[in-house]
Amino acid sequence: MGTPVTPWWVIDMHVAGVLEDAAAAILQDLACAGWASSESGDGTRILAYWPAPPPGLADELCARLGVAASRLGAPSPAIGRPERVPDEDWEAAWRRHFTLQRPIPGLVVHPSWIAHEAAPGEEVIVIDPKMAFGVGSHATTALSLRLLRGARAGARVLDVGTGTGILAIAAARWGAGEVMAVDTDPVAVENALENVRRNGVADRVRVSLGSARDAPGTFDLAVANLLSSELSRVMPSLPAKLAPGGTLIVSGFLREEEGAVRALLEGHGFRPGDGAWSEEWGALSARRDQTICTSPS
Ligand code: SAH
Repeated sequence: MGTPVTPWWVIDMHVAGVLEDAAAAILQDLACAGWASSESGDGTRILAYWPAPPPGLADELCARLGVAASRLGAPSPAIGRPERVPDEDWEAAWRRHFTLQRPIPGLVVHPSWIAHEAAPGEEVIVIDPKMAFGVGSHATTALSLRLLRGARAGARVLDVGTGTGILAIAAARWGAGEVMAVDTDPVAVENALENVRRNGVADRVRVSLGSARDAPGTFDLAVANLLSSELSRVMPSLPAKLAPGGTLIVSGFLREEEGAVRALLEGHGFRPGDGAWSEEWGALSARRDQTICTSPS
């Protein structure tokens, strides 16, 4: 990138393979800006990056991963202390992490530094992720894309927690009439805007800082790929954002959270349908009831 940036900090971890999904959820919860994992010996090495690690971060990671490890009967993770990284290392590690992805059949997602020639009938999205989440490699992104694929042409779509903009861009490519993408992280908003322009869908996709309640108007379809803790916070504002009969797609929750997520949806006037699953992660598509009583929150 060439521009001077704030120094980054890295925590070097080694976890059992079965802990990878739990580690991802914990890192996201601890505001980790991004991480790169690679196979290492009998487990996974994770390099996790923060712009400014909060005090006690390594201890917190150790405690939370320790709980996850004992629940899954995995060996305790080895967790290093935060160390400063030179910017070039960060950039190089980051780039190495992102490869060409085929999250669902017929869709290729790749960063601009990897060349790819589209095959006939193949949809290609170019995503340069910088520090935002969503390059198509995560199970929840793929699940969201799978459910989003069925959206009707011309639909008005709301993407809550857009990250790199991947879902918003895919929706536009697949024929959405108008897409509103929101994210509470300014870095994600900036990155999503770049990616929206890069993919030539700026005429249909608007990106703005904020959450569901800040998006003006109502939508035929909303997608929210958020951790379940965050989904609970956003949920009260979603019924008013969906037109009657509209569809809400949620992902970002673990299998064991399915019951709680279904209850959350039903409590806000949605009728969840069948779930879609990949690895430990789930996604649900839910219809907004025609008649609805929204809570005043
Ligand atoms: N939609 C992308 C990225 C999902 S990661 C994909 O499917 O791959 C979740 C994103 O939600 C992050 O960028 C995070 O900054 C954002 N986010 C977290 N809480 C939010 C909230 N309450 N409202 C809006 N965005 C939120």
